[in-house]
Amino acid sequence: MAQLLLPVDRTDWVVPPTSLSPYYNPKFNKVVFPAAYLQPPVFDFQMPTAFLYGSIGYVMGHELTHAFDWSGSKTDHLGTTVPQWFSGTAATAFNDSAKCFQTQYNGVRAYPSSNSSSSGFQVDGELTLSENIADAGGVALAHLAYRTRYSSIADDPSYLPGHSNTQLMLLGVGQGLTHCALSSTQWVKNQVETDTHAPGAIRGTVPLMNFPAFASEFNCPKGSAMNPEQRCMLWTTNMSNQSFTSGFSWSGSASGAAGTTSSDTRGVNSNIANLLLAHIFVMVLHVSFKV
Ligand SMILES: [Zn+2]
Repeated sequence: MAQLLLPVDRTDWVVPPTSLSPYYNPKFNKVVFPAAYLQPPVFDFQMPTAFLYGSIGYVMGHELTHAFDWSGSKTDHLGTTVPQWFSGTAATAFNDSAKCFQTQYNGVRAYPSSNSSSSGFQVDGELTLSENIADAGGVALAHLAYRTRYSSIADDPSYLPGHSNTQLMLLGVGQGLTHCALSSTQWVKNQVETDTHAPGAIRGTVPLMNFPAFASEFNCPKGSAMNPEQRCMLWTTNMSNQSFTSGFSWSGSASGAAGTTSSDTRGVNSNIANLLLAHIFVMVLHVSFKV
């Protein structure tokens, strides 16, 4: 109440450092990583860099992608509510692409960890849609960031025997998404009914099924579970110019949440690798400042 009539403090956090949930806040156009979240298995300075790009780097990409979904499309770079900056054509195309995710996740069932007789619970593709799209964006951004920043060693053997650095990075995505949770039957049931996030086992696999680079990095046979004929992709990355663009076409211009203007793509800015790397340093500074 003491803050009710005071100017908005844009540096304030709406959660304490002990919170376990990083988030994107469209009203401030900012991403927050509370200190308590920055622990293993998601983040640890002892972990190989490639793994960190897949774990915490993926989470950063996930939160960043929220700035470009429905909620992010209705705020400007300061977080002020504006008319949706998607053009009508883009909004229609975005919605059409999003329907692929909704249908796909509606067809997925989540299972408890230790009940082999369970028939599982259907994931709600509509309830989890924004998070599923952000998961897909997070994977793509983390991969782009790592392959760009460490291109000279990305294909070299990693600390994990038999795996390249890029494979380790992608395995880090799975780790970051699942948090290696053991889930009871009641927990899974409650999660699919109420949570906007799909259960961890789903989040740790489906975004990687949708990401073609995973199949090529691990040589998954065409038509296998991790290299399906049909994929859902809303955002795509381009290694040659280090860009992250919409997987749908649109025309017209738009000035969006990150303050960028683009004539034919919704650019997250060209050098995603440096952007994510900068976030890691800022994040560490925040941790030391806030704790
Ligand atoms: Zn999210």
